[in-house]
Amino acid sequence: MHQTFIAPMTCPVCGTTSDDTSTGMQIGELPYPTDPPLYIHVGDRYRMTFARIQSSGCRVIRSGDLGRPYRLLQPWDCPTCHTISQWAFVEFTPEGDELVVRSITPMPKTLETLQQADAVSSLIVNEYALGESDWLSVLSQRIEEEQRS
Ligand SMILES: [Zn+2]
Repeated sequence: MHQTFIAPMTCPVCGTTSDDTSTGMQIGELPYPTDPPLYIHVGDRYRMTFARIQSSGCRVIRSGDLGRPYRLLQPWDCPTCHTISQWAFVEFTPEGDELVVRSITPMPKTLETLQQADAVSSLIVNEYALGESDWLSVLSQRIEEEQRS
């Protein structure tokens, strides 16, 4: 089972805004107290800690109390110009024993964006076929190389 983030996503390549499942922002099912919804929107709540997002197919970098929202780096595709594997941040604000989806925002595919992420979708990690141990430093190198070329 997967869930899909839905938010207005404006493509940095063609400028078109897509606000439905066509952006393909999939994540493994988040832990949910009742029947899990198929779609995730800004304002939705989950009874879980950010560390548990690991069980939904994400690699967690930081999960302690950060004093700010957590940022999950999530890939998305533009259905209009078909630019795939673009990046977005899904921000989660901790409230008591819940996480609230605070924002879903396109981000530039840069090293700076990667360094601000607290977790990375395994879809991004798998795209670069990275192993278990030093995946973050290798991914950082690859993105730096892509930026330079
Ligand atoms: Zn586009």
